[in-house]
Amino acid sequence: CFITIEGTEGVGKSTNVEFIRQYLADKGIDLRLTREPGGTPLAEEIRELLLKPREEVVCDDAEILLVFAARAQHVDQVIKPTLEKGGWVLSDRFTDATFAYQGAGRGISWNRIQQLEQYVLGDLRPDLTILLDIPVEEGMARVMQRGEPDRFEREKLDFFDKVRQGYHHRLRAEPDRFALIDASQSLQGVQRQIAAALAEKLDI
Ligand code: C5P
Repeated sequence: CFITIEGTEGVGKSTNVEFIRQYLADKGIDLRLTREPGGTPLAEEIRELLLKPREEVVCDDAEILLVFAARAQHVDQVIKPTLEKGGWVLSDRFTDATFAYQGAGRGISWNRIQQLEQYVLGDLRPDLTILLDIPVEEGMARVMQRGEPDRFEREKLDFFDKVRQGYHHRLRAEPDRFALIDASQSLQGVQRQIAAALAEKLDI
C-alpha cells in the first residue's frame, strides 16, 4: 500500500507522519517512511541542490527535471522494491507536489508534468493521498512564528496560495484518491480526521 502526505508550508506534515506511523504500527503494519525530494542518498543530494540558496537563477525546466531525477531514483530504489515485497510506504510529498509547486506555483503546464509522470512512473500512483490543508497565511505564520508578513514575504504568500490551489485542483481531478484534512483545527482534531480517513480508505 502506497500512501502520500501533501500540503503547503507549516501545515504540520512531520508531526502527522509520525502519528500515521504510530497509528499503523498499533494495527501491526510496518510502514516504510520516506520523503521527497529525497529518500535515497542520491535523491537527498539532489534535494540539497534544489533547496540551496544560490546566485544563479534556476530555470523552471532544470528544477522540474531535478525533481523528477530524484523521484526516478526514489521510486526505483525504495518505493517499488518495498511495494513489490508487499510492504507499506508513506512518502512525505510525491508527484502531487510537483503539480502544485512546479505546475501551479511556477507555471509549468500540467500536460508537460503528466508526460514526465508517465515517463518516470508509468502507472505507479499512490493508493491514498492525505492532503493537509490550511490557509497560506496561517501556515506561513506558523513557519515564521510572527505576525503580518512584510512585502517580500507577501510575494511568497502569493506563490504558496497558487500551490494550495494546485493541490485543490489535484483533489478535484481525483477525489477518490485524496483525503482532505482541515489542518487549521486542533492537532487532536486533525489526527482524528486522519485516522478516520485511513480506516475508511484503506479498510483497516
Ligand atoms: O516537504 P518539505 O517542506 O521538507 O519540502 C522542502 C521544500 O521543497 C518545500 O519548502 C517546498 O517548497 C519545496 N518543494 C518544491 N517542489 C517540490 C517539492 C518540494 O519546491 N516538488
